[in-house]
Amino acid sequence: KSGFISIIGRPNVGKSTFLNRVIGQKIAIMSDKPQTTRNKVQGVYTQEDAQMIFIDTPGIHKPKHKLGDFMMKVAQNTLREVDLILFMVNADEGYGRGDEFIIEKLKEVKTPVFLVVNKIDQLQPDELLPIIEQYREFYPFKEIVPISALEGNNVDRLLEQIKLLL
Ligand code: GDP
Ligand code: MG
Repeated sequence: KSGFISIIGRPNVGKSTFLNRVIGQKIAIMSDKPQTTRNKVQGVYTQEDAQMIFIDTPGIHKPKHKLGDFMMKVAQNTLREVDLILFMVNADEGYGRGDEFIIEKLKEVKTPVFLVVNKIDQLQPDELLPIIEQYREFYPFKEIVPISALEGNNVDRLLEQIKLLL
């Protein structure tokens, strides 16, 4: 099992923290291999029976100028080509305008999307469900997985869910 995965979300939701945790020691730096598109592969997570290739997708935000517009199209093509999109949100903040723009873009592609609700370490147990309900209203997510990238809570479960889909 092998697949390409793109993590998108507003700045500071914890995308890099998540990648660092997942890839960690198992990082396979591919930048020295000329056949890989250098700045797009962020890392590869390899298990005995699965390989997850994480792809960078910059530019998923409201374009402020023409170049931004072009970047947006590039980003959207990337979203079309990956096998799975992880849409990461901040449990601490809940649904916001930046999310709205991203969800509009998600609706334009057919790629399956997981909602990853990060920073659950900042929540009281009863605060999680209302946040999930907010997001569910706007998009039919394939899976919804609450995690703490910082503390590692539920990250293994997310990786299992990803594996099932590949
Ligand atoms: P990115 O912009 O989406 O790549 O976000 P970063 O990974 O740089 O994280 C932004 C900030 O959120 C950093 O200060 C992280 O330490 C913090 N952060 C990331 N994940 C978590 C989490 O699960 N819990 C908490 N409490 N903080 C987190
Ligand atoms: Mg980052």
